[in-house]
Amino acid sequence: MKGKTEKNEKGFTPPPEILQRVLGFKAIEHKDGKIFIWGLGGSFIPYPTTIFLLRLLEKEFGQEKAANIFYTIGKIQGAQTFELITKKFGYAKTIREKSNLLRFNQGQSDVAGNGHIEWKIIDFEKNFFSAKGATPYAQEYLKLFGLQKNGVDFFMVGQAAGIIESVTNKKMNAFETQCVACGKQFCEAIVFSSDKKSKFSKYPNYREFKEIDLNKLGSLIEPRLAYLH
Ligand SMILES: [Zn+2]
Repeated sequence: MKGKTEKNEKGFTPPPEILQRVLGFKAIEHKDGKIFIWGLGGSFIPYPTTIFLLRLLEKEFGQEKAANIFYTIGKIQGAQTFELITKKFGYAKTIREKSNLLRFNQGQSDVAGNGHIEWKIIDFEKNFFSAKGATPYAQEYLKLFGLQKNGVDFFMVGQAAGIIESVTNKKMNAFETQCVACGKQFCEAIVFSSDKKSKFSKYPNYREFKEIDLNKLGSLIEPRLAYLH
């Protein structure tokens, strides 16, 4: 992995599950009118606002471009989350530690209000991963704009790809095989090694995202992208 992640020699040791719930509350702090989750500043953005933003981008620029933007920023957030967890709880070295890190991370999705998403398949040998859950964004999209033909959780898919790339140190692709916005009970995203693209491109609902080069945003952002693949 590129970047400045501090490697904690103790390895990744998540707190016991019972403590994770308590930590979930402690993870969020308020200071000077700002909100911090594990020290990362942010704000509560209502789900409809995010979905209006996505829908407007889709209408203005087409769904493909909007999807690529949401996927790209989702990837940054996924990598950032990995960075934060690693700094706080240690660097995952073994497969067991890496699996534990992913499971710990799924709890952080709850903490951040991104929905209850669970890793259903974690396979470091085949580099294949699947995450399942009903995202609040898909629920909101369905409520506001009705049944969709394609999945809408571009951000969540990007996040999943970002965290798996960080954990495996391999280039990954990801897409949503099903989505609540299309009338399904759950959303499911799969993440797989980019060299297996030809296999997965035969899947129904296959979608290939084009990651946007964030270096285009200027040289000041460069150091902040160090941990991205
Ligand atoms: Zn979805």
